[in-house]
Amino acid sequence: MPSLVLIGIDSASLDLILKWKDKLKFFKKMIEEGFYGYLHSTTPPLSPAAWTSIYTGKKPCKTKFYDWLKYVRCPCKESRVRLRSFFDLKEPTIWDIATVHGLRSAVINAPMTYPPAYINGAMISGIPAHLYSGYPITYPLELKKELDLLVDGYEVMPRLDIFRFFEYDLIKRLKNVVEKRGKVIEYMYEKEEWDFFMPVFFTLDTIQHYFWNYFDENHPLYRKDSLSDIIFYFYKKIDYILDKFSRKIGETNILVISDHGAGPLYGYFLVNRFLASAGFLKTKRTSILKMLSTLIFTMIEMEEMNFVYNVARMTRIPLVDKLIDKPLIRQIIERFSFFPLMELMSGDFLEDVEWSRTLAYALGAVGGIFLTRNIPLDKKEKVKELVKKALKNLKLPSGEKAKVEFFDSYEGDEAPDLYYSIEDFKYLPIVHLAGWNSRIWEKPMFFTGWHRPLGIFFAHGPMFKNNKDDKIPVFNIYDIAPTVLYALGLPILSDMDGKPIFKIFTDEAKRKLKARVASPSRYRIARRIYLAKTRIFLKESLKGDGKSSGMRVE
Ligand SMILES: [Zn+2]
Repeated sequence: MPSLVLIGIDSASLDLILKWKDKLKFFKKMIEEGFYGYLHSTTPPLSPAAWTSIYTGKKPCKTKFYDWLKYVRCPCKESRVRLRSFFDLKEPTIWDIATVHGLRSAVINAPMTYPPAYINGAMISGIPAHLYSGYPITYPLELKKELDLLVDGYEVMPRLDIFRFFEYDLIKRLKNVVEKRGKVIEYMYEKEEWDFFMPVFFTLDTIQHYFWNYFDENHPLYRKDSLSDIIFYFYKKIDYILDKFSRKIGETNILVISDHGAGPLYGYFLVNRFLASAGFLKTKRTSILKMLSTLIFTMIEMEEMNFVYNVARMTRIPLVDKLIDKPLIRQIIERFSFFPLMELMSGDFLEDVEWSRTLAYALGAVGGIFLTRNIPLDKKEKVKELVKKALKNLKLPSGEKAKVEFFDSYEGDEAPDLYYSIEDFKYLPIVHLAGWNSRIWEKPMFFTGWHRPLGIFFAHGPMFKNNKDDKIPVFNIYDIAPTVLYALGLPILSDMDGKPIFKIFTDEAKRKLKARVASPSRYRIARRIYLAKTRIFLKESLKGDGKSSGMRVE
């Protein structure tokens, strides 16, 4: 049985890799000897949607991971939103299918795999595990102790809500995370003979979000700075780790993918304020107290906060670093577990809306627009067209007409009715509503880079061909799971949205492999059983020491 290594690099951009390829040893080898191209992400091109599609070969309408959060269509009795957990994924993953067939898998820091679930092998949770404390982050439980010993404290991700104010601390911590991950990947690989081995790096996403304006000379907030090559530095760092790793593992079949690409972010579009100004959304009167608490807790009255932020980031004092490692301070931070990003995406704004008079509102990390339940079914299309028309007439802060593109959305109550991009994703729609003013455009704060739909795809190893064409192909994210399953000799499920990418395989490999299609029912039951086993595992792991915080075992 062949084995396969699937390396995930969140947010990696093929254009940047091609630009720097002569300085990137591992990627240069992948380009020169393997089969490579762009990988087209999901709609929306957002980590939770894209990664779960990678794991399952299915569109977000099947995984239900449209976003970080689980939301409901309003008006509704309970408008609470919450972060999605790995329990919310009901569709079988690549490693569930491998587990059914007795294959051994190691899944390392794959996003949205928190809490860690039962697997024939080992799992280390990925983001957003770092936002919680209480549950283990490894399956089996003892693995965490091994990792801690190996790298002197294993970390999934630094807490950005704190570190984003202190650039040097943030960079130092991210460096640390990448270096430790490199060691853990080598250690895990050597631990036993895996059939499927999947490590994921998340750091590039963070670095590109926060530091794009230091590197891109065309960015409106470009600043020549000592940190100008920090994005390259992290590509190089990951390249170094992967080069070392690939030389260690020798002639193995490797796929390297990202969930989406990256590009500049020029500003924010406050979509709910826009919908209010166009008459689709009605707001309640907000009290001064509420405005104040919004200002403090969401930290998003941007122009004002930008000032504070810029002062903080320019001081660059390694102050937090010293403080934060004090156990007492750490405890306070963990107790005070608020999620500014979650506020930003979900909106405390839901309670500011006059639901009985509202037709459309936006929710989530990309500001997808929902039509409310107030609209009769036969009027839905008409209202949608009106919203689109209003967006098409949108003017940029410069006064020029904005380029607005619309994407197919999905059926179902949890899916937004409208996905769109502004100026090719250079402006990010956010859902914040209340505040001091009614501006619909804001300068970028914290983020100066954001996602793009095209990510990376590389295939290298005995099974794979070398593409010599001038035109770089674009592969589909839904084809990853079927391609991996085909390469492992496992069946592809009939309800998957992708198919194996046959053209990357050598003729010899194709002669040996057989594409099999199986009914999903058996694997869905298996997934349910594995999640039940996970619940038992989590309950047992909590016995004796402490309680969990922030998440229920559902
Ligand atoms: Zn991502």
